[in-house]
Amino acid sequence: MHDIGKNIVGVVLACNNYEIIDLGVMVPPQKILQTAREENVDIIGLSGLITPSLDEMAHMAAEMEREGFDIPLLIGGATTSKVHTAVKIAPRYSKNQAVYVLDASRAVGVVSQLLNPETKATYIEGIREEYVTVTDRHERAERAKLRLPLATARANPVQIDWTGYTVPAPTFTGPQVIDDWDLAEIVQYIDWTPFFQTWELKGVYPKILQDERQGEAARALFDDAQAMLQQIVDGKWFAPRAVVGFWPANAVGDDIRLFTDESRQTPLSTFHTLRQQHTKRPGRPNVALADFIAPEGVADYIGGFVVTAGPEEAAISKRFDKANDNYSAILVKALADRIAEAMAELMHQRVRRDLWPYAADETFAPDELAAEPYRGIRPAPGYPAQPDHTEKLTLFSLLDATAATGVELTESMAMWPGSSVSGMYIGHPDAYYFGVAKVERDQVQDYAERKGMTFEEAERWLAPILNYSPQSAASVAAE
Ligand code: SAH
Repeated sequence: MHDIGKNIVGVVLACNNYEIIDLGVMVPPQKILQTAREENVDIIGLSGLITPSLDEMAHMAAEMEREGFDIPLLIGGATTSKVHTAVKIAPRYSKNQAVYVLDASRAVGVVSQLLNPETKATYIEGIREEYVTVTDRHERAERAKLRLPLATARANPVQIDWTGYTVPAPTFTGPQVIDDWDLAEIVQYIDWTPFFQTWELKGVYPKILQDERQGEAARALFDDAQAMLQQIVDGKWFAPRAVVGFWPANAVGDDIRLFTDESRQTPLSTFHTLRQQHTKRPGRPNVALADFIAPEGVADYIGGFVVTAGPEEAAISKRFDKANDNYSAILVKALADRIAEAMAELMHQRVRRDLWPYAADETFAPDELAAEPYRGIRPAPGYPAQPDHTEKLTLFSLLDATAATGVELTESMAMWPGSSVSGMYIGHPDAYYFGVAKVERDQVQDYAERKGMTFEEAERWLAPILNYSPQSAASVAAE
């Protein structure tokens, strides 16, 4: 085994008065060991430029062990790594030490430490400790990639004790259009922190205004935003629209079944949820949103909403562009986004207090809500707890949202206008946001059947969260 890298190592070592025996490329292990013995070398160095040499290096380490060698083994070259050396090579060679060398310039230091009787023992001890840490970290990462069979994940849901659980019924069933929006009130609910992120100013509002480095830029931007907001409110630039709905609902497996009315006799529709499939530490559940909805027999509910600042933003922005005022064109879009998010926050509070009054006494001030101190969540399809964007189709259909708000779903399930927000309302006090993370083929199969999609269709929508490569799956299946 040999490559350019090794030549450089050889040259560097030669320059430092080490004698190098270069055996060339693709040399069989036995030849290397035989030469090492005949020439009584102090160190063997291997360099791997292509992947197969990784296995050969591990084999070589085992051969050195078997034949009773007691000299250091240096590992380097493009394909090698400290992790590979620590996990695959070093454990096979206990009589001395396999050491990964990052590049030629480090080789001299490593070799001199290993050959100096005074430093050798401590140096090897240090390497061994480091490799234990590297191996542990590697194994943890590998374990994190492992997925459980869906059945095993399902046997480990969030445990909620539903006995005796009661929640007030929503004040209406089905969708209702909300059109009494007051822009001045919405503005109070704006969370400004993400606004600054849009302009790549990172920091929490209001602290960011006093920030040593970004404060001045943040203040200028904030002032401009306030001035434009005033115009938006005074001039009624936007006509916000929203629809919200509630339905009797129960969890059935990983699905959430919605009923037409309180008798819960006639199914209306179904939200499908995905379950975390990664291996969990003991006591940690494999969560699905369905876990937060009561099973049949308990009167539980789910809500849904779509809010939008409206389509006006596009025309206004274009007008600024035409006037060569790109800054205002961007600003108005950013503010439209803020208004939509603020509407979602304000609406959620109205839901908790009035429309589905499970927290009727809530008194959080508008600027306290961004930290989500309240009971219940509003997970959005396409977000980590429900990565499948197509659930928006169900939501929109239940709410008749396009007719109610003008918000449309594009082919890729994005909302148009962009300054729109949608989601579901879940009211249980234990509900929280989480990420489904990567899922296995068995869940994709199951999910496809539940949704009435083909497997390929489900795989396409879930592409970002597959824990496997669909291509190789197909080729494996074909074999
Ligand atoms: N104050 C923020 C609110 C938006 S981000 C703003 O003004 O921009 C928070 C929202 O994103 C939540 O209310 C929820 O709708 C969605 N969300 C965040 N994490 C989520 C998750 N893990 N799963 C589903 N939805 C999530």
